[in-house]
Amino acid sequence: MIEAKRLKKYFPVERGFFRRKTGEVKAVDGVDLFIGKGKTLGLVGESGCGKTTLGKLLLGLLEPDSGEIIKEKGLKTNIVFQDPFGSLNPRMRVEQIVTEGLKIEKRIEHLKRSAERLMDTVELPRKSLAKYPHQFSGGERQRISIARAIATKPNFIVCDEPVSSLDVSIRVQILTLLVNLQKEFGLSYLFIAHDLGAVRHMSSTVAVMYLGKIVEYGPKEEIYKRPLHPYTKSLLLSAPTPYPKAKKEKVLLKGDVPSAVNPPEGCRFHTRCPYAFEVCPINEPLLMQYSTNHFCACHLHQPKSNKNI
Ligand code: SF4
Repeated sequence: MIEAKRLKKYFPVERGFFRRKTGEVKAVDGVDLFIGKGKTLGLVGESGCGKTTLGKLLLGLLEPDSGEIIKEKGLKTNIVFQDPFGSLNPRMRVEQIVTEGLKIEKRIEHLKRSAERLMDTVELPRKSLAKYPHQFSGGERQRISIARAIATKPNFIVCDEPVSSLDVSIRVQILTLLVNLQKEFGLSYLFIAHDLGAVRHMSSTVAVMYLGKIVEYGPKEEIYKRPLHPYTKSLLLSAPTPYPKAKKEKVLLKGDVPSAVNPPEGCRFHTRCPYAFEVCPINEPLLMQYSTNHFCACHLHQPKSNKNI
């Protein structure tokens, strides 16, 4: 349905009165991925690793510097933002918010009925349409955001940390709603999160991102049961797992995430990796295949093939 090949997006860092370019933030640096119809790719990584930029590239909200995005013909896209408080216009009533996209597409017949159906779909009372965003809780606002996202019947939605600002009890409800909508409408999602628990609940395939690069990619079960990359292992240490018998390797990271401006040479993770050896700061590991659809970029492992995602 949607595929990215060698996608790159760098942002210039400018300083001084003449705004001289002093460096580049390598937000997305040669990313490959594929999301099929009705599937969810979970994209996980720490803040600032380029997840949101990648989502915006797939939606066409940012132009890539290089690389290619191949979309199925007629693919319609939309986004659910992280912040249900900042992403809804406080001066608009819910009815205006959820029908705005329909008006832009000039589908103005039966607007009221469409808005009511959207409220039914996201399990909010129809009388919500007359209210303003400030009259709702965080979870209810995120339901309004989801109603707005599905109003124009998209095939692909980028969910950019849609539950990370919500209470734990509300998170499950929103995730369940997203799963139900996917089943009902055959939606494909890019589900961005730093919480591996939410990613596990949502995704069929998981991609782990570190400083602009995908370092591990594979089916959910493989990533959670048999992680290969030391960074993935460290993320999993802090996440709840449905595989209690799976042996968890204690990977304790050194220091903080380095700056995405001029990131480390060789393996970008080598400044924090407890397994780094001589070759790691010199040669950049490529994303290689280790088992069926399981890819990893680390010199510790012997690849099965150099087939790409
Ligand atoms: Fe660690 Fe080296 Fe593997 Fe990078 S390539 S993750 S530094 S062992």
